[in-house]
Amino acid sequence: MRIGIGYDIHLLEPGRKLMLGGLHIPNDKGLKGHSDGDGLLHAITDALLGAAGMGDIGDHFPDTDPNYKDADSAVLLKAAFEQVKRRGFEIENIDCNIIAQAPKLKPYKSQMEARIAGLLEIETRRVNVKAKTNEGLDAVGRKEAIATQAVVLLRHS
Ligand code: MG
Repeated sequence: MRIGIGYDIHLLEPGRKLMLGGLHIPNDKGLKGHSDGDGLLHAITDALLGAAGMGDIGDHFPDTDPNYKDADSAVLLKAAFEQVKRRGFEIENIDCNIIAQAPKLKPYKSQMEARIAGLLEIETRRVNVKAKTNEGLDAVGRKEAIATQAVVLLRHS
């Protein structure tokens, strides 16, 4: 077994599409980023790479590379997981936190779990998404940013 941790934070920007956990969530602001800004998929990608001892998302998909401009983070996650799989790993489980003051994400948690499980070709029961606020504190609490965390447990098959 090997464990990996991932963290990300993105600024919220008016008029951008909000992508989180591979879902489009209706909101007046979206996450700024070189890619589509899906911080949850970025945190999971980092946790997967970390568990496999394969560096981080920036090593694999540099944000200076024009190929990844507005990239679909789901495609990046799948590409990272293909490499992790090639090293002989399977996913035991993934647990995540989304820390967002707004919008309310509770209604989307199970859809995100299903979407993430689908991208990684695992059962939905292996993915857990939790949504928290920051109790009004800091940039996240002021609705200026959304932070994400993920842990992934891999088993060598
Ligand atoms: Mg990111």
